[in-house]
Amino acid sequence: MSKKRYSSSKIIEMLTEIFERFPGIGKKTANRFAYHLIQKDVKTMEKFIEIFELIKDNIKECSLCHNISETNPCHICSDKHRDGSIICVVETIKDINSIERSGKFRGRFHVLKGVISPIMGIHPKDLTIADLTARVKKNPEIKEIIIATSPTTEGEVTANYIKKVFSGSEIKLTRIAYGVPVGSELENIDEVTLFKAFEGRKEF
Ligand SMILES: [Zn+2]
Repeated sequence: MSKKRYSSSKIIEMLTEIFERFPGIGKKTANRFAYHLIQKDVKTMEKFIEIFELIKDNIKECSLCHNISETNPCHICSDKHRDGSIICVVETIKDINSIERSGKFRGRFHVLKGVISPIMGIHPKDLTIADLTARVKKNPEIKEIIIATSPTTEGEVTANYIKKVFSGSEIKLTRIAYGVPVGSELENIDEVTLFKAFEGRKEF
């Protein structure tokens, strides 16, 4: 960033805009965060900068599955012991952690980076669906896609869209269903329920 001089109100405005991009943060809260941050001492600021530098230098997005890891491909994509014939499609990288904790799934993942939501202006092209189809085309070993989007309206719309994309192909499409409460986000579901959801997945 340039060393241009900005007024404090402009900086508050810029900070607010950044915080507003955080999930679940509205303008009011974002503005509160901005005021909180701007009053911090130099030492705290330096700590922030240090952490951001760490993120920039150490965190990489996997070019195959869009997971976040220290390496590209990520530790899951490069793990030879995982089953490369099954891909589990999730909304966010947080969902990978939830599923990994359940210990049931030994395949690989694909992170959509969101869900289709016309109201929020999020369309299929904004997600990584095109990457998923390219990935499947390039890897004949992939036999099954488990759609593990949340059982919310947007999650269902996204699941149906993916189903349409792969209709007529050889790929077996399944959807986790059993035991997952309707309307809940995947990350809020406990491991046992998630474990059962995988066992009880149905042809989709
Ligand atoms: Zn990966």
